[in-house]
Amino acid sequence: MTKSKKYTADILISGAGIAGLTLAKLLADKGLCVHIIEPNKPATEKDTPVTGRTVALMQTSLNVLKAAGTKEFHESIGTKMEVMCLIDDSMRGQQTITSEFDAFDIGLDYFSMNIPNDKLRAYLFEQCDAHENITMHCPVMLEDYKIENGARVIATLDNGETISASLIVGADGRGSLVRKIAGIKAHRTQYDQSAITCVINHSRSHNNTSTEFHREGGPFALVPMMGNQSSVVWVEKTPRADELMKLPKDAFENTLQAATNNILGGITLETAPQCWPLCAIKADRLTAPRTALIAEAAHVMSPITAQGLNLSLRDVATLAETIFDTAKIGGDIGAQSTLRQYEKRRSIDIGTRFFGVDRMNRIVGTHRAPIKDIRRIGLKMVDRFSPLKMLAMQHGLAPSLDSGRITRGETL
Ligand SMILES: Cc1cc2nc3c(=O)[nH]c(=O)nc-3n(C[C@H](O)[C@H](O)[C@H](O)COP(=O)(O)OP(=O)(O)OC[C@H]3O[C@@H](n4cnc5c(N)ncnc54)[C@H](O)[C@@H]3O)c2cc1C
Repeated sequence: MTKSKKYTADILISGAGIAGLTLAKLLADKGLCVHIIEPNKPATEKDTPVTGRTVALMQTSLNVLKAAGTKEFHESIGTKMEVMCLIDDSMRGQQTITSEFDAFDIGLDYFSMNIPNDKLRAYLFEQCDAHENITMHCPVMLEDYKIENGARVIATLDNGETISASLIVGADGRGSLVRKIAGIKAHRTQYDQSAITCVINHSRSHNNTSTEFHREGGPFALVPMMGNQSSVVWVEKTPRADELMKLPKDAFENTLQAATNNILGGITLETAPQCWPLCAIKADRLTAPRTALIAEAAHVMSPITAQGLNLSLRDVATLAETIFDTAKIGGDIGAQSTLRQYEKRRSIDIGTRFFGVDRMNRIVGTHRAPIKDIRRIGLKMVDRFSPLKMLAMQHGLAPSLDSGRITRGETL
């Protein structure tokens, strides 16, 4: 009979999405021993095609990725968003209200960089897989874990192996098993909306401008990619999104063409449309004994205003700093006092962004008279009154009250 392997680590991360992998790379670069469990092995970066899923990452998030060593790579596949254009098109073609925000006006070269998700994940996966301080368990599932004498996490994997660690990090996405095992409750709101994503080719240049139309079903966003390509995030009420997904390619392209108001000229589909039902999930707590949650294991939001992964990478930066600072002075990285620091530093940012995005999603999707009118007047005022516009831009970019050194562009 073969004996199941037993491993010992400093940190065990469950989930090799962008958040989990970035955390692993930051800590492993500082000499900590990291193990990662992941059920889905990605293709190599070279074999990973660009799909409709892209993320617009702000400077603070790019700083976190830079600290994890991806700068050259993400700049080679990312596209800068220099101008953001918001269009209230709730009267469908009549009396649109447009407000343009230019990064240059607040002293920036660009607001954010639009990066294909799967390519970035595949690159990070390869970097982690090759790292001498990281052991990748893939394709493997976490089965369960227990806390031994309050001092160690003992995790069991579905291949019978066990890993002992000082801390387990739940980076295992919206259905987080770590969250469930830790007994952390999560509140879920199912929106009656779905997001259709795809990449399109277009005849006119996007001029590095991201355009978001606000319409009855939800926002419709065109986000610049390399050359004459853009990614589309098209939020509609779910029954309408389902109808759109059933259309043959030609009919879908025609409907999409009309939805763009022809601002990018003639369009064709580069990638097949994909559909994502939208919901909001918020965990009650970010920590439990020897357990920390990050990213979608802790919070899931509507894609409106593109905050999801940006918020997640701030969790990553804060947790990496807290763990590293504790390890540096010989402290216990999984102790309650360490986890309390992480929870305290992240609570306000997560709470305010989560609430703000949920409200925004409801306001944009509302077409009842007083709210719709107030929204339209608000957008008009922001466009005409330049101090208000500056404030809106700075508020949209300001990471949090406690942003931490990595998000500011310093090293860990
Ligand atoms: C349409 C759309 C557009 C978006 N646009 C933006 C944007 O422009 N900007 C932005 O910041 N955010 C955006 N977001 C949000 C962003 O895409 C997500 O927040 C992000 O991709 C989630 O990353 P994650 O690492 O938390 O989770 P995931 O990518 O879901 O990673 C979780 C990982 O855990 C693994 N896993 C699952 N179960 C287990 C288990 N039991 N054991 C071990 N591992 C497990 C999974 O296989 C996966 O690899 C958008 C979201 C949507 C839906």
